[in-house]
Amino acid sequence: MELPSGLGGFRNYGESAPSRVRALYRENHSRQTLAFVLDRKAQYLSLRRARMGVWEAMAQLESLVDESDPDLDLGQIHHAFQTAEALRAEGQPRWLVLTGLLHDLGKILCLFGEPQWAVVGDTFPVGCAFDPKVVHPDLFDENPDGSVAEYVAEHGIYAPHCGLDAIHFSWGHDEYLYHVLREHLPEEALDLIRYHSFYAGHAAGAYAHLLGPRDAERLERVRRFSAYDLYTKSASPVDVEALRPYYEDLVAAYLPGQLSW
Ligand code: FE
Ligand code: FE
Repeated sequence: MELPSGLGGFRNYGESAPSRVRALYRENHSRQTLAFVLDRKAQYLSLRRARMGVWEAMAQLESLVDESDPDLDLGQIHHAFQTAEALRAEGQPRWLVLTGLLHDLGKILCLFGEPQWAVVGDTFPVGCAFDPKVVHPDLFDENPDGSVAEYVAEHGIYAPHCGLDAIHFSWGHDEYLYHVLREHLPEEALDLIRYHSFYAGHAAGAYAHLLGPRDAERLERVRRFSAYDLYTKSASPVDVEALRPYYEDLVAAYLPGQLSW
């Protein structure tokens, strides 16, 4: 799938976007501090909340609507299948089709009681200056990290070119799902999962001063993947039952058992 120039009518965060979207980003940008991120990592990344298989997790997402998304009002299960089906229709490798299906499964954090502002929306580095290319940058004004001298410096707590994997990103579904699946999927799939919401980096070229030697390439792959994530959003629900046999085989090939969440 080719990325259209501009964003093809998607990801419009201006006047025409539903007001719930800016409201979500107001909470997100004012409350995602470095301390908050470290606290959430300590709480969630030991993965001791639940043991469940992929289908059980998918079923829980069925009714969740992402409040940060200006383009989709359907439950997340439809978005998962729409993304995967677009990859499959192009004959992309099976691991990539599976990545399309799974990429947002970390939104299950909402069902563990996390508010949407700490689960969905674009991600960005914390502990260093916020880049104006992040969506709704004016809403960072209320973030308490803005008054910590070390965190407002260009590099903040990071060494120049420290590399993507050394950055603490705002907490959300990407980082969480990466940890759930890190033992089970190829490295490239894990990159797509871990960084797909980092639009400022993969779509707008921000934070280049923190990237390591291979990171531009990795983000380019994330950017290509984002075409399937974005441009397949449609108001028509997917016939989940009809597609299920194919995807049951696919899931069984990579993730046959229970996972730690
Ligand atoms: Fe996502
Ligand atoms: Fe998505």
